[in-house]
Amino acid sequence: MSAPGRQGPQRGPFVALGGYRSAQHEGTPATALAIDVRGLTKRYAGRAVVDDVSLQVAEGRICGFLGPNGSGKTTTIRMLCGLLIPDAGEGSCLGFDLKRERDAIRREVGYMTQKFGLYEDLSIRENLDFIARLYELADRRAAVDRTLERLGLGARRDQLAGTLSGGWKQRLALAACLMHDPKLLLLDEPTAGVDPKARRDFWDEIHALARDGITVLVSTHYMDEAERCHELVYIANGKVLARGTEQQIIAQAGLAVWSVQGRDVARLVESLKQAPGVLSVAAFGNALHVAGRDAAQVEQAIAPYRAQAGLSWSQAPANLEDVFISLIAAAPDSVATKRAPQDAAAR
Ligand code: ADP
Repeated sequence: MSAPGRQGPQRGPFVALGGYRSAQHEGTPATALAIDVRGLTKRYAGRAVVDDVSLQVAEGRICGFLGPNGSGKTTTIRMLCGLLIPDAGEGSCLGFDLKRERDAIRREVGYMTQKFGLYEDLSIRENLDFIARLYELADRRAAVDRTLERLGLGARRDQLAGTLSGGWKQRLALAACLMHDPKLLLLDEPTAGVDPKARRDFWDEIHALARDGITVLVSTHYMDEAERCHELVYIANGKVLARGTEQQIIAQAGLAVWSVQGRDVARLVESLKQAPGVLSVAAFGNALHVAGRDAAQVEQAIAPYRAQAGLSWSQAPANLEDVFISLIAAAPDSVATKRAPQDAAAR
């Protein structure tokens, strides 16, 4: 992969490497940036649905893109792969300029949309052959065979796509966006509605691709998937609210969290949610997490219930879900009122 002469301005920890800007962390060699965009903005009817978003993802990394429904993930992804033109912002994907070299970006990027977009009445092999024709691949048969093998689809090559289970459909969709050997994968909720085993297999595949040097930006609502990413970006209402590794994001949030277990803890949710300083009340199995930034306020909020019989209170480490729910609640233009369904149990 080379993109001579494509080098953006250098700031902060970013230094020149080859044709790309690159990220350098203390004590580690510099790595080229596969995604390097600043100030991305997209407006619809005067409303910024993506608002001044900057993203830097180094080559070979898996970056999780999280946020409630309607927060701007798909719009951002579509700008990154050259399908949408940003109203403001600049940068590059794989060293190609986001505005001037959209065709080159489209050739080098694999984009997996939320909906299964292949032909249900064609077999797996026929679908892949169709994609190979679209990309005008030189040796179509070899490319299809290679992809069938790479994704473990060989045994089902003649099965109609419409008869595949969700997990296999998603595997076929991934195969389709790998046909042209992209260097960057943009995956938009690839595992929505897929069973846990297929999701785990899919993530093993993503890690194998990253080991081959492919960069992945993947949107997801699943916290277990977020934990499998090298780094995370959390967006709400079009704005990035947090970024970093899981540990960094949790540490930066500085949350005080209390966990309560016992009889009928669900009855506490509504009153705890109203207490000053409480940013998130979320159920995890039989326990309820109560979180806020001000430890004293959280303690005050739970004080009326601390002595109640049948309830067991303890301090708990914050997890990603505590952090994300709290970030939305604390955001100036909170989107808490139009929360995603998976957040519904929480504040
Ligand atoms: P996400 O992927 O995080 O669910 P989207 O990027 O799909 O979010 O959408 C962000 C916001 O932009 C939503 O409010 C959505 O309704 C709005 N939006 C997306 N595409 C269009 C469009 N073509 N015209 C008008 N509004 C749009």
